[in-house]
Amino acid sequence: MKTQTVKAFGTTAAKKPLHDLQIERRILLPHDVEMEILYCGICHSDLHSIHNDWGGTTYPIVPGHEILGRVTKVGSDVTKFKTGDLAGVGCIVESCQHCDHCHDGNEQFCEEGVTFSFNSPDKVLGGMTYGGFSKTYVCDEKYVLRMPSFENLPAAAPLLCAGITVYSPLKHWKIGPDKKVGILGIGGLGHLAIKIAKAMGAYVTVFTTSPAKVEDAKRLGADVAVLSTDAEQMNNCPKQDLILDTVSANHDVNTYLNLLKVDGSLVIVGLPAEPMKVSSFNLVIGRKSFSGSNIGGIAETQEMLDFCYKHNITAESELISIQESNKAFERLERGDVKYRFVVDMSTL
Ligand code: NAP
Ligand code: ZN
Repeated sequence: MKTQTVKAFGTTAAKKPLHDLQIERRILLPHDVEMEILYCGICHSDLHSIHNDWGGTTYPIVPGHEILGRVTKVGSDVTKFKTGDLAGVGCIVESCQHCDHCHDGNEQFCEEGVTFSFNSPDKVLGGMTYGGFSKTYVCDEKYVLRMPSFENLPAAAPLLCAGITVYSPLKHWKIGPDKKVGILGIGGLGHLAIKIAKAMGAYVTVFTTSPAKVEDAKRLGADVAVLSTDAEQMNNCPKQDLILDTVSANHDVNTYLNLLKVDGSLVIVGLPAEPMKVSSFNLVIGRKSFSGSNIGGIAETQEMLDFCYKHNITAESELISIQESNKAFERLERGDVKYRFVVDMSTL
């Protein structure tokens, strides 16, 4: 297959800083869209992957899966996009399109294995997929999102992973005005979860380990902000219908099962590497559910983008150059970000 060489930024080992790399992108197939990448968000999953926290990272790795750009070329059979359009690519870039899950719009659960936008076996080109820390992205138009014309375009990039990852479970568990929702962790995912759950009409309580974020949580729209290290605040906290756990590191989930109403659900979206310990008593008493959720399908991602545009929701973001991204990963690791780094890809 014909390819073109593209400039990218990635690393060849877990402990090595990211640096300039050359990668190959495929020459457009009839249904492909090529975009020039304008902005790319930095998700904690990029950090887990670069560090090989979960195992399974193939080096060299080019991270980035909150990819916002402008269409520069379209294949002969493309109907959804034209040159000059704003476009987005999130986590999903290929799926079988005929299993039950693809059929239902849950491509992330494709039975033949979904292809992610980075560090995933590339079924078309061979090798691995390379993410948005690069000049261009090429994929089938089915997986490309229409980007509404957000006023603050860089701040919209994080919706493509963080946004859909919290929107999808909030929709699935039918969150609305009569529901009390707890958000655990105020990071990239958590701060968008506050905004989206509020826009859905829920009564939102956030749980944070960071004293400095307690006040900020209210500014972001939370009704109640609880410092989770303060026993008294935890004891006085009202019971929740749903708690969305966005925490990236090991923590005790039993504490939060105890904060659910009867029939309440604790939904994990954070991906700490270590297995979690769950007490059976905390589930059986109150018929509680312990569950998880993984990003969201393409149609739902489009729905989320349109929802966020309508409700004026974007990430609180810090725009950085690609050269600053190594520092940004260090800061993300120690929780020093309010609340998402976004890379200005023109600096690559
Ligand atoms: P992030 O910006 O680093 O936020 C994580 C937050 O977790 C931190 O801001 C912090 O919030 C809290 N936290 C960190 N260490 C903690 C600890 N030891 N104990 C308690 N709380 C702690 O990360 P993110 O980009 O939002 O991603 C969060 C997690 O979701 C990552 O594991 C990522 O891989 C995963 N993820 C999953 C999906 C999916 O589809 N399921 C998609 C994207 C990302 P406070 O300071 O408020 O306590
Ligand atoms: Zn992500």
